[in-house]
Amino acid sequence: MSKNTVDVVLIGGGIMSATLGTLIKQVEPNWTIQIIEARDTVATESSNAWNNAGTGHAALCELNYMPEAADGSMNPAKAIDINEQFQLSRQWWSSLVKAGVLSDPKRFINATPHMTFVQGEKNVEFLRHRFEILK
Ligand SMILES: Cc1cc2nc3c(=O)[nH]c(=O)nc-3n(C[C@H](O)[C@H](O)[C@H](O)COP(=O)(O)OP(=O)(O)OC[C@H]3O[C@@H](n4cnc5c(N)ncnc54)[C@H](O)[C@@H]3O)c2cc1C
Repeated sequence: MSKNTVDVVLIGGGIMSATLGTLIKQVEPNWTIQIIEARDTVATESSNAWNNAGTGHAALCELNYMPEAADGSMNPAKAIDINEQFQLSRQWWSSLVKAGVLSDPKRFINATPHMTFVQGEKNVEFLRHRFEILK
């Protein structure tokens, strides 16, 4: 029986293993990585384009990241945290373009205007309040 030794084993062939594997290759180019995928092909679960809406979550329009508390207050911490994570992702992709790992960014990332639509006075007030806090 042969015994294979690798430096890193990543379980699952989705976007997380692809991202982590790419990151590891940038900082430790000589490490060997094995990705183990249970299905016949990679990226057929959540990372599949038919399952994933493909939106970069800047958290400016995702209302569920900033629910209103019973006393009417709104804490922007989660929205800000997610926004910062998205900015980090953008820096990461940008660095990969500079390093020549990714070629044409327009093929995978494009800025699109977002709009949040709510109905009813209460919801409009909620949206105004949220906008003021995030502004
Ligand atoms: C409908 C939908 C819409 C979404 N929209 C967005 C969006 O707009 N923007 C956004 O940022 N995120 C979105 N997401 C979330 C995003 O798709 C996931 O967070 C992301 O794809 C998760 O990546 P992953 O690699 O962890 O998981 P996956 O892509 O699911 O990969 C996990 C892999 O592990 C494999 N696996 C599981 N168990 C084992 C095992 N024991 N051994 C070996 N392999 C195993 C699976 O077969 C799979 O291939 C959406 C998700 C869904 C479902």
